[in-house]
Amino acid sequence: MQKVVLFGECMLELRQSEANTMHRSFAGDVFNTAVYQKRAFAQQQVSFMTALGQDVLSQQLVDNCKAEGLNCDLVRYSTSHNPGIYLVQTDAQGERSFLYWRENSAARQAMKLLDEEVRNQVCKADVFFFSGISLAILAREDRALFWQFLNEVQKAGVTIAFDPNYRARLWESAEDARQQFALAFTASSMVLPGIEDFSVLYGLNELKDIVAFCEPFNIKELVIKNGGNSVFCRAGDFELTQAVKPVAKVVDTTSAGDSFNGVYLGARLAGYDIGQAIELAASAAGLVIQFPGAIIPNENFKALIDQQILAFEHLAK
Ligand code: AMP
Repeated sequence: MQKVVLFGECMLELRQSEANTMHRSFAGDVFNTAVYQKRAFAQQQVSFMTALGQDVLSQQLVDNCKAEGLNCDLVRYSTSHNPGIYLVQTDAQGERSFLYWRENSAARQAMKLLDEEVRNQVCKADVFFFSGISLAILAREDRALFWQFLNEVQKAGVTIAFDPNYRARLWESAEDARQQFALAFTASSMVLPGIEDFSVLYGLNELKDIVAFCEPFNIKELVIKNGGNSVFCRAGDFELTQAVKPVAKVVDTTSAGDSFNGVYLGARLAGYDIGQAIELAASAAGLVIQFPGAIIPNENFKALIDQQILAFEHLAK
């Protein structure tokens, strides 16, 4: 069975639904990626690696992961910290803003709770995925532990996949993020950035400049998402720019990149070529943005993915 480990934070999401009612769900970029990968490729073992607390919320979060079919054997439990929370507010113009309580979350302690069992299991995976957010939230004093761990995982032959997913507010400074990202680019053979990661952090707006920037690193598969416009991939000598099918009514772009990543990772692992993997991932993301929230109803998601996978299989015959 193909095995993927995704490392990051999942939080309680609160969303005001009516005057005095909060709709609650669980979300976080890497968690969203894991959910969409497992939904699209149920035959793969998708493990979510994180740290939670020993509280009721943590238990519900794990139950939610399990209900999505995620493997939770690599979740560790802090005795002193609980999961983070965020509130999504929407103003009269439909503009969303986010309020976070995550400075003290259990996920920040994940490296302190890393044990031999987790190390061994991750080293047996096919792919290890993490994001710039997984890095940003780590306790600063634990960064060295993370890079040491990643080095072991890489040496064990696991494919390292990374999405910078730059969020300025999570970093002490842009320079701090650039330093950490340089280590991540060096360690990763698959990198899945959004074009805005590079424009905001490095002042690079053109694809050719971004590709040139990535050139010195040993990235085997570079997939650059450019919103509703296109997706670009470079893998060795292979280069592809694929237009994205326009979506008439975008409701909420939360999780667009995350769902793209999950389906892309799953598709590549399942043996799809880069063009097919991009097509599948872009249709998944195109659907996700037509619903509110990070995780859309599974029946809508499965209907689209299954139909497209069937079409690929039909073409292959
Ligand atoms: P982004 O993170 O904004 O680059 O978006 C990730 C992926 O979501 C893109 O690669 C597209 O596949 C999809 N996507 C984002 N915005 C749109 C849009 N307006 N129309 C269609 N697809 C989109």
